[in-house]
Amino acid sequence: MPDKSVAVLGTGMAGFGAGHVLEAERAPFVCYDRNPYYGGHTRSFRYDSGFVFDEGGHISFTKDDHVRDVLAENVDGRHEQRRLPIDNLWHGRRIAHPVQCNLHGLPSELIVDVISDFVAACQSEPAPTDTYAQWLHATYGKTFAETFPIVYGRKYHTTTMDQLTTDWIGPRMYRPSLQDVLRGALGKAVDGAHYVDTFRYPSVGGFMTYLEPFAQRFELRLNHELIGVDTREKLLRFANGNVERYGAVISSIPLPELIPLIDGVPDDVLEAARKLAFTTAVLFNLGIDRVDLSETAITYFYDEDVIVSRVNLPHMFSPNNAPPGCGTIQAEVYFSDKYKPLRGRPEDLIERVVSDLRRCGFIRDSDSILLEDTAISRYANVIFDLDRAAALRTVHGFLDDVQIHYCGRYGNWDHAWTDQAFVSGEETARNVLNRI
Ligand SMILES: Cc1cc2nc3c(=O)[nH]c(=O)nc-3n(C[C@H](O)[C@H](O)[C@H](O)COP(=O)(O)OP(=O)(O)OC[C@H]3O[C@@H](n4cnc5c(N)ncnc54)[C@H](O)[C@@H]3O)c2cc1C
Repeated sequence: MPDKSVAVLGTGMAGFGAGHVLEAERAPFVCYDRNPYYGGHTRSFRYDSGFVFDEGGHISFTKDDHVRDVLAENVDGRHEQRRLPIDNLWHGRRIAHPVQCNLHGLPSELIVDVISDFVAACQSEPAPTDTYAQWLHATYGKTFAETFPIVYGRKYHTTTMDQLTTDWIGPRMYRPSLQDVLRGALGKAVDGAHYVDTFRYPSVGGFMTYLEPFAQRFELRLNHELIGVDTREKLLRFANGNVERYGAVISSIPLPELIPLIDGVPDDVLEAARKLAFTTAVLFNLGIDRVDLSETAITYFYDEDVIVSRVNLPHMFSPNNAPPGCGTIQAEVYFSDKYKPLRGRPEDLIERVVSDLRRCGFIRDSDSILLEDTAISRYANVIFDLDRAAALRTVHGFLDDVQIHYCGRYGNWDHAWTDQAFVSGEETARNVLNRI
């Protein structure tokens, strides 16, 4: 490559966001990825049997017009657009989302305790909210916090809520007014209580279809696993033996993977990278010979004795994600190297997952399971634990020093959704072009 060319590491939303700007500015660039496919976390599993799943249910709910336009253009406007039905499952009851605005139908003593504690929390002196556990108590009151989000949070984040900070919450947790809580307890719907109202999704081929035109236009080098970076000579070394020179490099590789690959990385930076915690999602893709598996496309599972944290039903994102008359369920179970390591083979959990889904009413005895597959999504969510901020400062400071530009959910090490990852790739590419 000529010296001014940009090496983009990763072909997910962030890598392609960078590519989108580099292409528009006619800058020479190449995108590398370790996988034999592009798309990173937004790839889709397209089974010969006609079922389609993503790597974790992916829908586009961006309000960013620019990203909406880019994605719509990439599928020539052929996408589904509709409201997203979501609910929760607790003690065998289906509860509309979010629970705090839909208490109606729960045991009356529980409703009384939730509302009393909510009122007490609203009226008390401002309490510390340094940890997520404190924030939950202060925002919702003790009973609600300890019955719902603290239990769910342990399953989803794999650690206890007093180990988490609050800087990731944003719109993810709805903060109701007392009127919202009372209306919900009386069975009245509260509008606008979830950050996703409508979503878009490609009509065919799964979420990955949004990226196809990029993959066709950009120069991609797949099966290129980065194994070393010489920042002095500006060389990238790959597992297949290729060595490539770069003018500038933009990386969306997860930081704990990237840092050990850099020649001469100091011990304190290595140590900081090791402290960055993340979850791994084990995904169970099930194809069933029935469509009406659920009225909602996403369900959150609160009970500790159900190992599944969340399910999404891809055929409700697009009917083309399943053969006619069939439905799909993708169940997510979370682990993390730091707090809850995955021991044994994930396939061994499928029996337990299917039994949970039967118990919870998603699968009936009369259903035939036509497809059963397991996939691992490593680096699913960043865990915003108490180590994160300081460790990230050290890691990012080092990358700035050696001029490795970073972007995306796992380069910025945040909770970016697809649109945010794409935009962060675009912004990073613009910064890089301003410098070379
Ligand atoms: C379960 C789940 C559900 C989600 N649902 C939604 C949703 O509904 N809507 C939404 O907007 N967002 C959703 N997200 C978030 C979304 O997945 C991310 O925002 C987005 O995919 C991040 O893109 P990225 O390019 O930053 O990272 P990635 O897609 O992970 O890209 C990083 C790339 O780096 C490559 N790489 C890693 N190591 C190497 C190496 N050594 N050499 C070469 N290449 C390497 C990887 O193969 C990968 O392609 C979800 C996430 C999860 C985990």
